[in-house]
Amino acid sequence: MKNNRSIYTASVHAGSEIKEHFGASSTPVFNASLYRFTDADEGAAVHNLQKPGYYYGRLGNPTTGALENAISELESAEAAVATGSGMSAIAAVFAGLLKSGDHVVLPASRYSTTGYLLNHLSDHFNVEFTYVDATSAANYRAAARENTKLFWIESPSNPLLNITDIAEVASFAHEAGIIAAVDNTFATPFNQSPLALGADLVVHSATKYLGGHSDLTAGLLAGRADLVQKAREVGIVYFGGSIAPQAAWLVLRGIKTLALRMERHNNNAYAIANMLNEHPSVKAVFYPGLESHKNHEIAKTQMKGFGGMVSFDVGGAEEAKRFLNALDLVAIATSLGGVETIAQHSASMTHAGLSPEERAKAGISDGLIRMSVGIEDPDEIAADLKQAIERI
Ligand code: PLP
Repeated sequence: MKNNRSIYTASVHAGSEIKEHFGASSTPVFNASLYRFTDADEGAAVHNLQKPGYYYGRLGNPTTGALENAISELESAEAAVATGSGMSAIAAVFAGLLKSGDHVVLPASRYSTTGYLLNHLSDHFNVEFTYVDATSAANYRAAARENTKLFWIESPSNPLLNITDIAEVASFAHEAGIIAAVDNTFATPFNQSPLALGADLVVHSATKYLGGHSDLTAGLLAGRADLVQKAREVGIVYFGGSIAPQAAWLVLRGIKTLALRMERHNNNAYAIANMLNEHPSVKAVFYPGLESHKNHEIAKTQMKGFGGMVSFDVGGAEEAKRFLNALDLVAIATSLGGVETIAQHSASMTHAGLSPEERAKAGISDGLIRMSVGIEDPDEIAADLKQAIERI
């Protein structure tokens, strides 16, 4: 991090260029889609990258650039690019770095749309991929082939909070000349630094914790400058997956309280996971902070805190439905990372697009509830969950 400042300081100040904006303490929102030049030579110099500057909205502007600087600092990255959504950041990586015939290794249990995108790339562009149980790093090595270009990691994973040993997978990747990329959405830069663990790239759905208030859609990608540049060229310049200036500003504002919010998310989720773990009517709890979690020891070494996401099994689909319908404070909703506590039924909502066999293979049972624990009073969240469990 710049000047080695801590994440508490960096999250407040990262990306701000106060001197350039008349002392404004909040980076202004630049809505302009065009930027005038003083003369023809300056226009040519900016277009030819001989002079830094902005000239066209799709390609970036001072607000989106400030956000890119902010995430570069928080992830200690050489370069970053801001995108219109988490999926556009993921798509920029896949489309920018893969070519027909390349092979990707990714977790069997992961954010569903990442898999759907690879299905599409496989059907239409001959990209190959293999799903692995990502809870064992050795499975990545075993799945690697001559044509493997990318190891995709999602840790903690959606929805089961699986943990992958990032340092181990990155080290296999580099022995074999493979790129290691991590979806760091669940952990955030507060809890985990994949680049410091050896990964080449990190992506975020900034819609979640970085924005933090369930009021925007955005994505971020950071890491090795050459890889980020390729992803930018395809994802932003060709596909036009740019972030809107207002959304970039909202993410910048959200990041200012990231450290505080994450501390509270970590503490609340830890308390709720323990409460659920001791509850006789809950069949299983998935939270990397629990000693019973399969990869708790790895989580302890690579994460500063265990995050705000908790998943648990209430028995079956009917029980899950009765539980959700009995909630009062906790909302039924399918995003995550906002200040409010929300819960959803993975099998019929976020992961409904997988076949029952695919869900079974990924470990997503019919009774699985995925919960994003907010920053409310933890006793009041727990009380709502307990009364809903009683009504299963
Ligand atoms: N990665 C993870 C782990 C997610 O949970 C999500 C969305 O839920 C995404 C990426 C996609 O982000 P977005 O919805 O901002 O496109």
